[in-house]
Amino acid sequence: MTDWSTLIRDVPDYPKPGILFKDITPLLADHAAFTQVVDELADGLVFDKVVGIEARGFILAAPVAYHSGAGFVPVRKKGKLPAATLEESYELEYGSATIEVHADAFTPGDRVLIVDDVLATGGTAEATVALIRRAGAEIAAVSFLMELSFLSGRDRLQGLEIRTLLTV
Ligand code: IMP
Repeated sequence: MTDWSTLIRDVPDYPKPGILFKDITPLLADHAAFTQVVDELADGLVFDKVVGIEARGFILAAPVAYHSGAGFVPVRKKGKLPAATLEESYELEYGSATIEVHADAFTPGDRVLIVDDVLATGGTAEATVALIRRAGAEIAAVSFLMELSFLSGRDRLQGLEIRTLLTV
């Protein structure tokens, strides 16, 4: 077992001054660490499809889907998906963001595992949950590589099974 937490790098003042960005690229570049976290994100959970949230969520969710024998569904920023979509908007610190999923991405009753790299304020994950439910699927669980607990993001995901592999 690798202590992969040492492979997450702190980058000060990115993307703006005062933000300490958690950079997972050194972890992704380490085969043992990468495969270990992919296993841990889904271990013991039951689901039919894996949703990855653009963009770093894709890097983790796609191998989780492959490894688990489940389908992969992308949730993307507005304007990136080619066919008919459902959309959900949410507030950011400054302004708002809109994410989309293909309207026909799920079979009714699909159990969905949502995967992303970081749970910060929880706004992105909360909007993703709403989007998936509107598309007719159920949430099996929400898995993150890392939780920034001082931002209390899990308060916005009440009633859901939340898995975070590392809390900082
Ligand atoms: P939230 O909506 O505030 O929870 O922010 C979560 C989203 O922002 C996720 O999709 C993350 O990829 C991204 N994010 C926020 N903070 C960081 C960070 O420090 N490192 C990497 N991604 C981050």
